[in-house]
Amino acid sequence: MDEPFGFRDGKSEAHEKVKQAVLLEEDITKLEEELTDKYYQLGKSIYELSDRKVAEINQLVDRLVETKIRLSNTKNSGICVYCMAENPKLNTYCGKCGKKLEITN
Ligand SMILES: [Zn+2]
Repeated sequence: MDEPFGFRDGKSEAHEKVKQAVLLEEDITKLEEELTDKYYQLGKSIYELSDRKVAEINQLVDRLVETKIRLSNTKNSGICVYCMAENPKLNTYCGKCGKKLEITN
């Protein structure tokens, strides 16, 4: 008399666990999708920010190069194209990086 009930209870308990597992798997899928979305948003915002920062850095480098060239014109010296160091026009090699000078002006 006890056994059939026990068996039935065991069966419904197993069924309950399967249902629970399905719900948990759905939760996991939702959490993974949410996480993937967050990674996507983070990647996108970093890309957009670095794009802006790179543009700002390029602008600053351009201004720096321009200013160094103006200085070398003022002092009648030359700028090394490899390391941007200022060198006297008579130098054959850069005093900073040691490369053969190709004076920009
Ligand atoms: Zn140099």
